[in-house]
Amino acid sequence: MYGKETMNQKIVYLVGAGPGDPGLITVKGLSCIKKADVIVYDYLVSKSLLKNARVDAEIIYVGKQGSRHTMEQEDINKLIADKAKENKIVTRLKGGDPYVFGRGGEEGIYLKEQDVPFEVVPGITAAIATPAYAGIPVTHRSCTSTFGLITGHEDPTKNQSDIDWEKISTGIGTLTFYMGIKNLPNIVEQLTRHGRPKDTPAAVIRWGTTTSQKTVVGTLSNIVEKAKDIKPPAITIVGEVVKLRDQLNWFETKPLFGKTIIVTRSRDQASEFSDRLVELGANVIEFPTIRITKPDTFMPLDNEINRLESTDWVIFTSVNGVESFFQRMFSLDRDVRDLKGVKICAIGPATTEKVREFHVRVDCQPPKYVAESVVEALKKVDDLKGKHILMPRTDIARSYLPEELQKLGADVADVIAYKTIVADNRDGTVLENLKNGEVDIVTFTSSSTVRNFVKIIGKDNFDGFKEKVQFASIGPITTETAEEMNIKVSIKAEDYTIPGLVKAIVDDVKKRKEGGI
Ligand code: SAH
Repeated sequence: MYGKETMNQKIVYLVGAGPGDPGLITVKGLSCIKKADVIVYDYLVSKSLLKNARVDAEIIYVGKQGSRHTMEQEDINKLIADKAKENKIVTRLKGGDPYVFGRGGEEGIYLKEQDVPFEVVPGITAAIATPAYAGIPVTHRSCTSTFGLITGHEDPTKNQSDIDWEKISTGIGTLTFYMGIKNLPNIVEQLTRHGRPKDTPAAVIRWGTTTSQKTVVGTLSNIVEKAKDIKPPAITIVGEVVKLRDQLNWFETKPLFGKTIIVTRSRDQASEFSDRLVELGANVIEFPTIRITKPDTFMPLDNEINRLESTDWVIFTSVNGVESFFQRMFSLDRDVRDLKGVKICAIGPATTEKVREFHVRVDCQPPKYVAESVVEALKKVDDLKGKHILMPRTDIARSYLPEELQKLGADVADVIAYKTIVADNRDGTVLENLKNGEVDIVTFTSSSTVRNFVKIIGKDNFDGFKEKVQFASIGPITTETAEEMNIKVSIKAEDYTIPGLVKAIVDDVKKRKEGGI
């Protein structure tokens, strides 16, 4: 019974990735991404879902963009079958739902013919999700009890339509059209000719559920004109339900909706910040400018770790410092008991939080999150004269703090626990985005993000966009660095933390909206 066949893991999962917002994939769909040996994905699939793939997974793009095909359907069918026949788990990721205008059925039939087992994982289809994100429920008791999904792609020159316009025009309350942008004049013409009143509300939603969502609303008499600048992918929705948008528009009213914001932190640290911005509706471009690496030598740090019993304070001025210090301590086969009797100071809440992750309490956190404030706070809790203080920091940290502590008579070991280097970021599209005025705000979360951003983008290129964007800074030192480089910072965090920076951005956007800027 448990023959070779059942041992095989060859299978294809036809998975709906949802309409755009990566959070709208199903739990089952996500698990198919995680376990796949091969992922074959389309144009409309959110790229960020691919971050969940195994590092050794083979990822193949077969996207079709309008009429531009990267790969013909027959070749895609063959590809997924052939990969599975190599005894692999293949996850075939499609935008929305695989069986709603997704040609999933054709792939299933081919797999069946080839004797390749497959399963289908439905997804949230665009006609349901994009109106929902535009504030339009597809059905509503007082408006309609019927809802239709229609392809708008049908060749208008076709003699005989597969769509019974006469019946659907008046027979169904809410009508949604996929792939219908080019054909919109024809769709409207058919509907009105077959009896749908010209004043029926209609909306066109482009890139629905993503932070680039754009919605235009009108009626059958003017929607063609209003949507003339809208390009695919877009859903057209026709029916009385469109009116409910006035009350139900929750997504496009988010505080940062429509704003494109660049995050310059290192890849490892970007997500907390980016996630908050995305939750608030922003379109985030992650453009890492720094990369954290090991120091050239661990010797000075190791010497310090070996003398912790005669150390009075360890001062952490960054999350990376905490991470590097503890990792090194553990790799020297030590543990937190070696910190017994050592007092810990952390510069701000994120650093404190990181220390706590290692099950160590912080004894001192200054009220303001800058080096100047650390000195004041420490003076209050201890007489630093003759005390041995360890500061595990980056190679490019300011000398202010160790110098001030030395002035107070402390014996300071300012050692390099990690290096901050310029990220190897060659994403040329970001410069184009900046020049084209497609970016609203560039954020700086440390002095090195400023310096490295200038290095990567190129000082000479700044004139091409500096009037078009705003610059936001996490704290006074970062602002100072920016201003030294002739970058005008117009958004400044009052609380020198990521939440503080997010708040400053939200406040500024609100102020400008109210001021009509
Ligand atoms: N299987 C997909 C549909 C594929 S056909 C699904 O179930 O959603 C491609 C068409 O879907 C596009 O031309 C557009 O009409 C629609 N579409 C898909 N994603 C969309 C999005 N995020 N916003 C607007 N329309 C979308």
